[in-house]
Amino acid sequence: MTCGFVCDERYFWHDARDTGGPYVEAGAEMETPVSRRRMLNLLSVTGLRRQLTTIEPVPLGREDLLRVHPAGYLDSFKAQSDAGGGTMGDYADFGPGSYEIAALAAGGVHAALDAVVTGAVDTAYALVRPPGHHAERDRGRGYCLLANIPLALEKLRAERGTDRVAVIDWDVHHGNGTQAIYWDDPATLAISLHQRQLFPYESGTVEEAGGAPALGRTVNVPLPAGSGAGAYSYAFERIVEPAVRAFRPELIVVASGFDASCLDPMGRMLLTPAGYAALTRRVVELGREVSAPVAFAHEGGYSPVAVPFCGVHVLAELLAADAPVGFGDFGYMDALEDQQLNVHQRGMVDQAQAAAARHGAFG
Ligand SMILES: [Zn+2]
Repeated sequence: MTCGFVCDERYFWHDARDTGGPYVEAGAEMETPVSRRRMLNLLSVTGLRRQLTTIEPVPLGREDLLRVHPAGYLDSFKAQSDAGGGTMGDYADFGPGSYEIAALAAGGVHAALDAVVTGAVDTAYALVRPPGHHAERDRGRGYCLLANIPLALEKLRAERGTDRVAVIDWDVHHGNGTQAIYWDDPATLAISLHQRQLFPYESGTVEEAGGAPALGRTVNVPLPAGSGAGAYSYAFERIVEPAVRAFRPELIVVASGFDASCLDPMGRMLLTPAGYAALTRRVVELGREVSAPVAFAHEGGYSPVAVPFCGVHVLAELLAADAPVGFGDFGYMDALEDQQLNVHQRGMVDQAQAAAARHGAFG
């Protein structure tokens, strides 16, 4: 198995201006380059980095960005970025040069998607920053400034004629941006598994299922805090896999947030690196089953300890190799009894499954 890998030093230079508040001492910021840089470093130290096929990102140009974002939004972002920084929405602050870095991040996701669609590699992972799944057409949110995956998809569609695409978003937060952008698009299946009522607090319910022309093409799987391997596995079995099978996409994109890890400071879930690897295996097998290549775009993840291990386990899985490391001092997390599906979690997944069925997600 060949696996493409996109990264760029400049991704680590983006400043999210996540600097605490008047009553919070600086130094405990969430959105910093640390977790991602440590993931890159662990890939190198374990030797996995050498087994990956390097794909160089190319920044998206204005004509590419205009496929998703209005001119006024891009003008405002560029002007503020040139002037030293600013904001594009709730929790979407940035420093100097972030416009160019964000365009390079979206271009990195595009490079990964393009490489799997053309068959240059079997799978690909884009380790980009800033993330993109909260960004809507005309507003940034939650550390996201440009909608990386939709931007990459629309360029791919324009250049390669790719039509039906499934996005599986396992970031612990709701993929509200992808949902909003593809609300009325029957050619995009947007599935989000997330901790319910996290961020954005009001979105990601099971009744949000797409507009009239695309009813059932948005699938939300809100999960209760404390969900682990068993709950995610059950959600895949009951909802993700049957929805993708019924949809028959030509490409599967994973919005890969590692903030559903058991050590994340923002999420309250229990996934471990082995748990993420198990989900990765299922996505790859699903892709094989429906003849759709699979590419991954990095989203959130704020634990400097867990994110590197999650990344290494996912990439080892994509290389069809054994994970070269365990989970450091936290291996016992895999054996927690709370990793097993419980009644409460089963009830919420069944509810989401029933709603998705009612909206036609399974054909
Ligand atoms: Zn997140």
